[in-house]
Amino acid sequence: MEKGELKAAVADMMPQVREDLERLVRIPSVSLPGFPAEPPRETANAVVELLKSVGVANARLREIKGGNPTVVGGLEGPEGAPTVLLYAHYDVQPPGPDEGWKSPAFEPTERGGRIYGRGAADDKSGVVMHAAALRAFKGKPPVTIKVVIEGEEETDSHLDAFVLDNPEPFQADLIVIGDTGNWKVREPTLTTTLRGLAVCDVRVATLKDAVHSGMYGGPAPDALMVLIKMLSTLLDDAGDVNVKGLDSYKWEGLDYSEHTYRETAGVLPGVPLIGSGSVSDRLWAKPSVTVIGLDAPAAEGAPNALIPEARAVVSMRVPPGQDAEKARALLAEHLRASAPWGVQVTVTEGQAGPAFMAGTDGRGYEAARRAMKDAYGKDSVMMGQGGSIPLVSNLAQAAPKAEIIMWGAEDPAAAIHSDNESVDIGELQHCILAEALLLKYFSE
Ligand SMILES: [Zn+2]
Repeated sequence: MEKGELKAAVADMMPQVREDLERLVRIPSVSLPGFPAEPPRETANAVVELLKSVGVANARLREIKGGNPTVVGGLEGPEGAPTVLLYAHYDVQPPGPDEGWKSPAFEPTERGGRIYGRGAADDKSGVVMHAAALRAFKGKPPVTIKVVIEGEEETDSHLDAFVLDNPEPFQADLIVIGDTGNWKVREPTLTTTLRGLAVCDVRVATLKDAVHSGMYGGPAPDALMVLIKMLSTLLDDAGDVNVKGLDSYKWEGLDYSEHTYRETAGVLPGVPLIGSGSVSDRLWAKPSVTVIGLDAPAAEGAPNALIPEARAVVSMRVPPGQDAEKARALLAEHLRASAPWGVQVTVTEGQAGPAFMAGTDGRGYEAARRAMKDAYGKDSVMMGQGGSIPLVSNLAQAAPKAEIIMWGAEDPAAAIHSDNESVDIGELQHCILAEALLLKYFSE
């Protein structure tokens, strides 16, 4: 099919795409513990039907013991054609309290060219993008297609380990992860790096029980004060991560503006940004560290007492090139060494997830750049993602020959994981066209 035909086909199918998306958004497929398993299963079945409707006749559920099923399927391309694996996920984050939503989370509602609803962007837009790109070829794509739509991306995913234990079904020449977005609406963007994750749990115990701060305060170290002194050493005076031995590098893609960062992160007026290097460096090429949890008495009604025990969870984002497990060990070592006055503390190493950096000089990237240019009418940029997608690193390991492309319709205004999540319908249309063109160009 020619470029113009694909463009017309995508434009024509948008009402159908929208219907497909809305159908999926209506099912509350939250995968986190404590939520019912039935809606994810219903969504998986709806995804099977959707894939069948675009020509993936063998679309089916792959059951995963103790987890939500993954939807898989494939289409044979012409003899000798390369293989492209399309990945997205159908599970969603919990909606959070109703009050925050301007329209109900699971009732897709259009406002100003965007469809609002939990999962409208993350990542049901990715599911319909893949389906629509296949629909554009009327069931006869120019490449061999494998589809993997998982149901546990937002929770402890069984697929992460499955990929490493069963690499065969994931072999491909190109893997398209449809679960990111442009840095701004209509600014074509390839996400080429992901930071990894390194987590430590810190516990401090100094007294048998809470005791009166008037009678005992002074000589005895208060556990919370010990912990605070430790945590305060994680950043230096400039606001850079102070853990020694960590690697970082200089970012060479999109120069993410301070203004955009402030706006999308919601940094309050007057609050300075911290750390050194460009915003892109700090987001994608350097480590960052956050205390993500702290056990301490509630401030409201707090008694005048020394705190016997305190605990914190420290989470570090790790740039590509830095081994995540080594980073976790360095973090643990730093925390132990930072305990004041010789107080004994317990540091337990938690989760570690590898960072990822895509090779961007292969045929797949060439085809993707060309596809984006033709779909959007402008050159694409490369950006990193500060977060982690553990599956991507595992796919890179399991299918070392595959190029990995990350893109999609999750622009910053999509507010994924927040109230009023949404997808821009025009942006989705551009993404679908770009993906259809990618399949075409990659086959040539
Ligand atoms: Zn996602």
